[in-house]
Amino acid sequence: MSVIHSVVLDRRTVLQFLGISAATAAINRPRPALSASAMKEKMYSDGHLALTTGFVFPDAPPDVLTAEFKTADPAAPLHLPCTVPLLRHDDRLILFDAGAGPAFMDSAGRLVASLKSAGVEADQITDIVFTHCHPDHLWGVTDEFNELTFPNARYHLARKEFDFWTGKDTLQSAPEHLKTFVAGAQTRLPRLAERAKFFENGAEPLPGIEAIESPGHTPGHCSYMLHIAGAPILLTGDVFSHPLTVRHPDWRWGTDQNSTVATQTRRRMIDRIATDRTRVAVYHMPPPGLGRIEKGSAGPTWLQET
Ligand SMILES: [Zn+2]
Repeated sequence: MSVIHSVVLDRRTVLQFLGISAATAAINRPRPALSASAMKEKMYSDGHLALTTGFVFPDAPPDVLTAEFKTADPAAPLHLPCTVPLLRHDDRLILFDAGAGPAFMDSAGRLVASLKSAGVEADQITDIVFTHCHPDHLWGVTDEFNELTFPNARYHLARKEFDFWTGKDTLQSAPEHLKTFVAGAQTRLPRLAERAKFFENGAEPLPGIEAIESPGHTPGHCSYMLHIAGAPILLTGDVFSHPLTVRHPDWRWGTDQNSTVATQTRRRMIDRIATDRTRVAVYHMPPPGLGRIEKGSAGPTWLQET
């Protein structure tokens, strides 16, 4: 575990190693809505990632870091919450990502316990819809015995994301410091393939749930619009991971695999969310991970729900 931990803390993991182009999301199409009376969403903690300010914001000006974190020391600890949305819809229990599981960081991997404390057993989960395949979102699909954590779930994943992580050249071509991420994905994804359903950009992996391609953090990263009647929610995965990533969308974020594309995606999403006044669920924002984005005179701002 400590080896993996040190990889995550390594600043070099922010190096871009993918040459991918921005994709245009197919959004705002009219489509049948999920019935609000039949659905309920809730957020469950998977713990947190123990990182540093210098790792997640490698280019941030010291004065901004000082204002935000009371120090410009890049080694200052930063705990990034991991909050997993669960959608209960009719007879389905749908998780969006699977948490980190037991093999990534000691501070994460709490999802199953969080669900259990709310009366939800892992074997009741019917579907897991993935935003992307980084360890803190994927590795929770297997437990400490390497068994499937959610044995009855179907797995929904963008074809582009699956193809990247399982590509025969991906491990070899990945920079040394990212090979752990690739190896971890390549250990787990084949376990899921039999129960997996792949989709393309703009598709509905499940009724009323629209996939919106939002690349940069990973090549096939997807956000999801939950078309709930009168109360839609946009799940943005790791497009944003801290309020400062909303305020400064051009700043490199430590684990973006292509920061140029990630910046384009952040800007496009900010425009959409602020214009539509969409309610947003963000995996790494402070609990409960829900809020909105406003475009004020000082720049785009994350408005946290309490
Ligand atoms: Zn993440």
